[in-house]
Amino acid sequence: MSSAGDVIVVGLGGMGSAAAAHLAERGARVLGLDRFGPVHDRGSSHGGSRMTRQSYFEDPAYVPLLLRAYELYERLERDTGLDVVRLCGGLMLGRPESRTVAGALRSARRWDLPYELLDARAIRARFPVFAPRDAEVALYEARAGVLRPEHTVAGHLRIAARAGARLRFEEPVLGWEPYGGGVRVRTGRGTYTAGQLVVCPGAWAPGLLSDLGVPFTVERQVTYWFEPDGGVGPFLPDRHPVWIWEDADDGVQFYGFPALDGPGRGVKAAFFREGGRVCDPEAIDRTVHDGEVARIADRLAARAAGLPGRFVRAATCMYTNTPDEHFVVARHPLHPDVVTVACGFSGHGFKFTPVVGEILADLALTGGTRHPIGLFDPARLPGGEARGRAGGGDPGPAP
Ligand SMILES: Cc1cc2nc3c(=O)[nH]c(=O)nc-3n(C[C@H](O)[C@H](O)[C@H](O)COP(=O)(O)OP(=O)(O)OC[C@H]3O[C@@H](n4cnc5c(N)ncnc54)[C@H](O)[C@@H]3O)c2cc1C
Repeated sequence: MSSAGDVIVVGLGGMGSAAAAHLAERGARVLGLDRFGPVHDRGSSHGGSRMTRQSYFEDPAYVPLLLRAYELYERLERDTGLDVVRLCGGLMLGRPESRTVAGALRSARRWDLPYELLDARAIRARFPVFAPRDAEVALYEARAGVLRPEHTVAGHLRIAARAGARLRFEEPVLGWEPYGGGVRVRTGRGTYTAGQLVVCPGAWAPGLLSDLGVPFTVERQVTYWFEPDGGVGPFLPDRHPVWIWEDADDGVQFYGFPALDGPGRGVKAAFFREGGRVCDPEAIDRTVHDGEVARIADRLAARAAGLPGRFVRAATCMYTNTPDEHFVVARHPLHPDVVTVACGFSGHGFKFTPVVGEILADLALTGGTRHPIGLFDPARLPGGEARGRAGGGDPGPAP
């Protein structure tokens, strides 16, 4: 039988594992379900590294959530002993008026975050790997860095299990529906009921959350690892930052990481959105083609000394985009008393994982949250069925 303290979490990837941890730690009876095994590489939360940053070019409304996410990531490391966060600094490069630079500056100023602005000469002097055009500048942020996605998911699963959550893997959810004041979830192995449902389906959102009415686009994205000519020395994280570059020549965004894993393992780089191909998570092409490697290699050759060097490997991953590239985190507008959703992370959600878990626990257990999630209301989107009924506050003014 279900009770209000029972919560089913569907999807135990980045967001769902965090939700299960926060819910279980607050005393909810949690059942977590995933179609694959724990910490798998068939969704969106694998690949060894994720960037985190606070001077958020996408919108200043994300910054308070980032500040909380940083606290929670530190706590995750303390609670699990896992190595999750490496703050090596970050560069947002491009023309001064580019979204990457101007947007980052806007967030930094709005929230009084520490930053430095570097002109092309200062970039070349301080980070000799990079070859900016004279017209390019960078915002440098010391608190940007790298997260380990597999350790994050493993840590949250461990915390959830320790707090009593039942976690069931290799058990795909086939459907769910409101039932007797709560919800009923049907899987390949059985039927479960609970008072609350939290749905975090990643790239499977178009199927599992079709009645949200949000026009999601699932995109295949590729990340690449290259071993620099002359070795990884200049790319080690004590001297090389994470970076996003909005190329002054054509506006394409690409990004990269330091050499986190030492010699032979390569440095990771990718295009941010450019070249993403619409895909179905069940039928995604996991083969990376020579032409794709050549495109990123050419871009790196033009801008980074020592790269591309030797191609090491590549991996596919999926973005689940909303039309405005902002998240959907809300009570389900058609089932606002019993269902909470977190989806549409549009290629930039990982750094928010623990705070999204906290918000989902708030919404499922209390119906609201102190966190500013007005930007993530599905009612803002074309076809979003919500009419201002999603839970949570408004971004509100900066203090
Ligand atoms: C190449 C790439 C680079 C990225 N870089 C960054 C970055 O640098 N910084 C950043 O912040 N973000 C980044 N992101 C985005 C970030 O990784 C994602 O936003 C985040 O991982 C999404 O988490 P999720 O929980 O929504 O999805 P997932 O982690 O994929 O979890 C969804 C889970 O739901 C399960 N599931 C789906 N359907 C069912 C079902 N029917 N029954 C049971 N279980 C089901 C899946 O098996 C999966 O485990 C990147 C993404 C990619 C692909």
